[in-house]
Amino acid sequence: MPTKVFTIANQKGGVGKTTTAVNLAAALAEKKIRTLLVDLDPQANATSAVGVEKQEGRSLYGPMRGEGTALEMITPTPVERLSLIPSEEDLGALEIELAGTENFLGRLRAILAPVRSSGAFDAIVIDCPPSMGMLSMNSLSAADHLLIALQCEYLALEGLGQILRNLERIKGALNPDLTLGGVVMTMFDMRTNLSRQVVEEVKKHLPEQLFKTVIPRTVRLSEAPSFGKTIFAYDNTSPGATAYRGLAKEVIERFQLGK
Ligand code: ATP
Ligand code: MG
Repeated sequence: MPTKVFTIANQKGGVGKTTTAVNLAAALAEKKIRTLLVDLDPQANATSAVGVEKQEGRSLYGPMRGEGTALEMITPTPVERLSLIPSEEDLGALEIELAGTENFLGRLRAILAPVRSSGAFDAIVIDCPPSMGMLSMNSLSAADHLLIALQCEYLALEGLGQILRNLERIKGALNPDLTLGGVVMTMFDMRTNLSRQVVEEVKKHLPEQLFKTVIPRTVRLSEAPSFGKTIFAYDNTSPGATAYRGLAKEVIERFQLGK
């Protein structure tokens, strides 16, 4: 089966993109899906969350500028079957350095092509920075499916509309095959009606795309990254771990991963 590429993008900051990218990727790996996590955020939160030290010269910064390959940047993680292309701060400079150059927004797609065709991975999960700048646009043009992490909060639907308009733009201009792969609701708070109402609203608009699994707001999920651990390594039986396992199961079924 060809490698499926997912990008987790949302122009809004702090909505659970990285937490979802890291723990979904780890849960897929646990379920025997050979997974590559690509950290495309100069903040490098996914890199540290999965327990890998940042290293100068080890990111897509070089390959995006035509120096070296993405394959060379693939780094093992403490999680079996999960590899990582780390990030470093320099990635942020690409926005300026590459502006207006040829294939400006299609570079990631080009440099990931050999990784796809290597057959080494069933799934690639890209973690994006919180803006619709050049890096996120590159990830949308490189991906097969956009996964949206949407925080259960006031005005969530407005943010969703904005991402969906960007999706349409990218489809028209750069990547006609890109689909909205799914919406995952994050930081669900059982004690508030607001969380429930937001989920209901999204379900009304996108009944097919909304994942049944909802990620609860739990302290364990926010603690794990400071230990460089996925939720499974940190607290394997916590509600957050159970939720991300449920999400991975849905993703595997929806996209027929590993089949
Ligand atoms: P950024 O836009 O800065 O990249 P992000 O969208 O990647 O942010 P995260 O870093 O995943 O968001 O999450 C933001 C903060 O919320 C982090 O401190 C994270 O630990 C915490 N967090 C994420 N998901 C949950 C959750 N389900 N329960 C509790 N805390 C969470
Ligand atoms: Mg992040």
